[in-house]
Amino acid sequence: MITTALIVRAVSLVLLALGVALGVFRAAHPIQDTRETLYVFGTLVEIEILDTDKDTAQAALVDVGQMLQRLHRDWHAWRPGMLSDLNEAIALGETGAVNDQLATILRRGALFDCQSDGLFNPAIGTLVGLWGFHADSPPQGAPPADTAIQPLVAAQPRMADLEISDNRIGSANAAVQLDLGGFAKGAALDMARGALAAWGIRDAVLNAGGGVEVMGSHDSRPWRVAIRDPFAWGAVAAVSLKPGEVLHTSGNYERFFDHNGQRFSHILDPRTGYPVEGIVSVSVLDTDGARADAAATALSVAGPSEWPQIAADMGITSALMIADDGAMMATPAMIARLAPPAEDATLEVQPVALPAPRANDCAVP
Ligand code: ADP
Ligand code: MG
Repeated sequence: MITTALIVRAVSLVLLALGVALGVFRAAHPIQDTRETLYVFGTLVEIEILDTDKDTAQAALVDVGQMLQRLHRDWHAWRPGMLSDLNEAIALGETGAVNDQLATILRRGALFDCQSDGLFNPAIGTLVGLWGFHADSPPQGAPPADTAIQPLVAAQPRMADLEISDNRIGSANAAVQLDLGGFAKGAALDMARGALAAWGIRDAVLNAGGGVEVMGSHDSRPWRVAIRDPFAWGAVAAVSLKPGEVLHTSGNYERFFDHNGQRFSHILDPRTGYPVEGIVSVSVLDTDGARADAAATALSVAGPSEWPQIAADMGITSALMIADDGAMMATPAMIARLAPPAEDATLEVQPVALPAPRANDCAVP
């Protein structure tokens, strides 16, 4: 007959065995893994922290979560907040007050606008809104009229129009309306990595819809990430990220709308006022998330022939472009880092040499 005492004994023996087994397991694999998924910047942000005690990791995640929520509010292009207040002031020909973090991302935005010859242009907020992308869900119906688009292009809003003096910002051109959507995610993940480092965390991965940034490694192995197949469920390639590296992908499969069989991407060509065509995704490997994110957008605008020059001008060495016919092109430095997504898979990428960067006098204002 089985008595309660026997059950208790059996259970405690099992627990003891389990405890011993766990102890052995821990000694062989001293990994503590803490994961969290946050909803910020209109996307899910997954953070995984290794080798940190649970209490510290949880506290760091709360801290980072609050920071990302605050950045999301402050940098939002169309909801009331610090950036929309600034946009209102600019439209009225006045100056607006910003905090250090907003001033910093705007200064960097001006650098990327200059280096990309205006292909990356966070001052085209009115145009982005006109195309219907200032909403949580994709726009529906017909694209805007050309007569509405052309005046916005002719007004030539550029980041160089901004007059930034410490924490007050104005614009020489009232057509400037700031939209940080092209690089806010990268800039925010960079700041999140900084915050995790301040908590003493060395090994972590942060993943936010198309952007992955790592710290340290995954238990003596590098963090391995996949580049999504823009045409089907799955991956086209895998990349092992070294400590401190980031991989940002811009794709017209992320946010778009279809009308009469035509697809309109949320990445706009500031020269024409129309969405980019012919490119499905661009991935940029770098150590600076804001720059990689901005460059992925800029190279999407640059298109299949112009992108190597713009990459060189922005200081990017590793980039991959997937055209809408499925052709893959990448810089030699990027090809050296790409692996097939699975053992039995193949990878066909056309190498594209990077030209020398063109001389420019671009600087952070
Ligand atoms: P994702 O958000 O899918 O990663 P991107 O990083 O390319 O894609 O950002 C696209 C967003 O950037 C658009 O939704 C818009 O807010 C903004 N944007 C669109 N075109 C440009 C451009 N030429 N330069 C800068 N920002 C842009
Ligand atoms: Mg981008």
